[in-house]
Amino acid sequence: MIQNKTLYVGQLNTPNVDEIVEEFRGVFERQFYTNHGPLVDRFENEIQKSLGVKHCIAVCNGTIGLMVAARTMLNGGEVIVPAFTFPATVHALEYAGCTPVFCDVDPETHNLSIETVEPCLTVRTVAILGVHLWGNPCPIEALEDFAGAHSIRVMYDAAHAFGCEHNGRKIANFGTFEVFSFHATKILNCGEGGCLTTNCDETAAALRTARNFHAEHTFVDVPLRINAKMSEAQAAMGLVSLRHFETFRNANAHRYNFYRDALNNVEGLDLIPLGENGASNYQYVVVQVDANRFGMDRDTLVNALADDNVIARRYFHPPLHRSEPYSDEFSQLPATEMLCDTLMQLPSGDMVETNDMQRIVELLQKYRAG
Ligand SMILES: *Cc1c(COP(=O)(O)O)cnc(C)c1O
Repeated sequence: MIQNKTLYVGQLNTPNVDEIVEEFRGVFERQFYTNHGPLVDRFENEIQKSLGVKHCIAVCNGTIGLMVAARTMLNGGEVIVPAFTFPATVHALEYAGCTPVFCDVDPETHNLSIETVEPCLTVRTVAILGVHLWGNPCPIEALEDFAGAHSIRVMYDAAHAFGCEHNGRKIANFGTFEVFSFHATKILNCGEGGCLTTNCDETAAALRTARNFHAEHTFVDVPLRINAKMSEAQAAMGLVSLRHFETFRNANAHRYNFYRDALNNVEGLDLIPLGENGASNYQYVVVQVDANRFGMDRDTLVNALADDNVIARRYFHPPLHRSEPYSDEFSQLPATEMLCDTLMQLPSGDMVETNDMQRIVELLQKYRAG
């Protein structure tokens, strides 16, 4: 441990460079760089096996994946989506010609619920886009029932949820489709990358067709096509990441459990529970700061940590319905605003060692003592 090393919230899980070089060598030997090469094919198959889902459609990144899937499966219309998410969720919908309608979230689960979705329903609603925030699943059965009763679709932004489960089934198997991100900050790291998953053959064929202009596998009627393909280089990194996924998950769980045990003794800092209904990937170490009990509000705490070389991140800040281009359009979302004011993410990922976490916890205890 370097006492003064700056600790970022990066959450990086770094795949083995020698194994990546070995996979890259094959790409150059084959001179096959993209257009559904053998590595993308293998990557899709391995994800299908790993998640127990019938179809995986690899894409260049999660945002574009969501955009293409929403454009393909919906014909515009209103989509109910939580304001408590990463901006990409909502901007992808807009690019797809949909109108996002922000709903609030449950202050306990941080996910949308029937209670928060229902007031947003109109005759123009075509779908609900749930986000499995921190990898914790949305209320899937309740949403399916509600959507069925109103003849609308449910889709999921599963960018946080690779390897997470809901009642014994892997996230990937729910809704019309689910979208994953393999961005460098996610647990499965392709640099940039993502995939769509579905168990429906027709949906998969449409998404595969929409993803590219070279209809290698299938060709079905879709409204528009685009180049959203994953390259062989991305798949090479993805395959190596996937091979070591359980190592990343175990290391994440170790860090999460360390923080959980240590923060038990710090009044006013409450770690957000993960994996209560099944396995988690333990990627998101998120703490709620209770200013009264801790004696310092979230922003003051984030600044104090930064002065001590620990970069914690306010999550999500500012809330989407208070950011351009939405600032003036939408009404109050009390739970979202409360969470945006009180949550922060602590440093995790491969670069954070046990000693580093010890130092962070000691700083937190010191601030608490005043
Ligand atoms: C990372 C992320 C995305 C975007 O994924 P990219 O692969 O970076 O485009 C979308 N939604 C959420 C919730 C994310 O965390």
